[in-house]
Amino acid sequence: TTVGVIRERYPGENRVAITPDVVTRISTDDVTVIVESGAGTGSRFSDEDYRTAGARIGSLKEVIDNASVICCVNPAEPDGLRTGQILIGVFEPLHRTDLIKRLQAIEATVVSLDLLPRKLSRAQSMDVLSSQANIAGYKAALVAADAYGRYFPMLTTAAGTSQPATVLILGTGVAGLSAIGTARRLGAVVTAYDVRPEAKGEVESLGARFLELTSVASGSGEGGYARQLTETEREAQQAELAEAIGRFDVVITTAKVPGRKPPILVTEDAVARMRPGAVVVDMAAGELGGNVAQVKSEGSFETDNGVTIIGAGNLPSQMAPAASTAYARNISAVLKHLIVDGTVHVDTDEEITGQIVVTHQGRPVSPALADALT
Ligand code: NAD
Repeated sequence: TTVGVIRERYPGENRVAITPDVVTRISTDDVTVIVESGAGTGSRFSDEDYRTAGARIGSLKEVIDNASVICCVNPAEPDGLRTGQILIGVFEPLHRTDLIKRLQAIEATVVSLDLLPRKLSRAQSMDVLSSQANIAGYKAALVAADAYGRYFPMLTTAAGTSQPATVLILGTGVAGLSAIGTARRLGAVVTAYDVRPEAKGEVESLGARFLELTSVASGSGEGGYARQLTETEREAQQAELAEAIGRFDVVITTAKVPGRKPPILVTEDAVARMRPGAVVVDMAAGELGGNVAQVKSEGSFETDNGVTIIGAGNLPSQMAPAASTAYARNISAVLKHLIVDGTVHVDTDEEITGQIVVTHQGRPVSPALADALT
């Protein structure tokens, strides 16, 4: 088996799917690695680093021509793909059905790691969503602290005592919990909210206060994810949150619902209630909008009332060396799962494989996509 690594072509993407240490880890007599020249540059890995680790370096065409398995981070559809070639990455297939249909038509096998069953302990070493969300949550707290014009901690100096910043985290999945931990370590007083009531215990165990809302009883859905709220619930939640948000110096939002537009948690009314100098970091920002009404994409701006709003949907890319290192370890576990005695076996009846394989030999596999692809 030849495993290929291509350079990411998404704007602003610095990560790489396989790092030199993972090249060494997966290379055997039967498994070789070919890396597109420059693929690691954004993560501070040179072609020489990959060569030393045992990889061959080539052009994009050479990677496509030689590799039977191609690893990437963002969805990729390089020219010249052959029937039966395997692509592994985060394809977000629920809202990229056109791309998936094209790959299905040429009988490529698409392995999308965002479909991984999260609660299965055997799958945890492959969990790229968690590894990347951990980094993103950490960075979100730092980005917020950097943009905030006052201290996060309470500090007593000869010039007086500063009040600690009050931080509200909306959505306490992996990223939210990581942001809570980081904001707490910086000395802020942290409150957090999630629509899944079971999140309360986790929030409190990190030393943050859980914000209780009365508008939505439980927003728990399948597989530990949040469900989509009804229109009425959403409006009630937004109104109740708006009142709370105005009391905080910093708000970090992390709420996503798989395959759908992120819910609006911070309305224009909520932002209008915030104080000048307040900061909002929207980690859900991206092609589908964000959690903040005014956020349509990545990038930051200041509102008329002096609130800094930062659309920061791809924070892992800002910590690319760490993010790529973690991602590559996950990929290494996925390859170990799929490659038996040096050969790839796509056993779609196996529990994990059956979930993460979107399409194989021209037929849809993952039940998550069955309706969209047939
Ligand atoms: P995510 O990125 O899909 O969403 C982030 C958070 O936003 C979630 O906690 C979600 O409940 C919340 N959210 C969504 N809509 C909301 C709304 N309208 N208002 C408020 N909050 C809202 O989440 P994730 O980090 O990928 O985690 C998803 C689930 O998977 C969680 O239950 C997490 O504990 C679980 N998980 C389990 C394991 C494991 O058991 N090993 C590993 C990773 C994640």
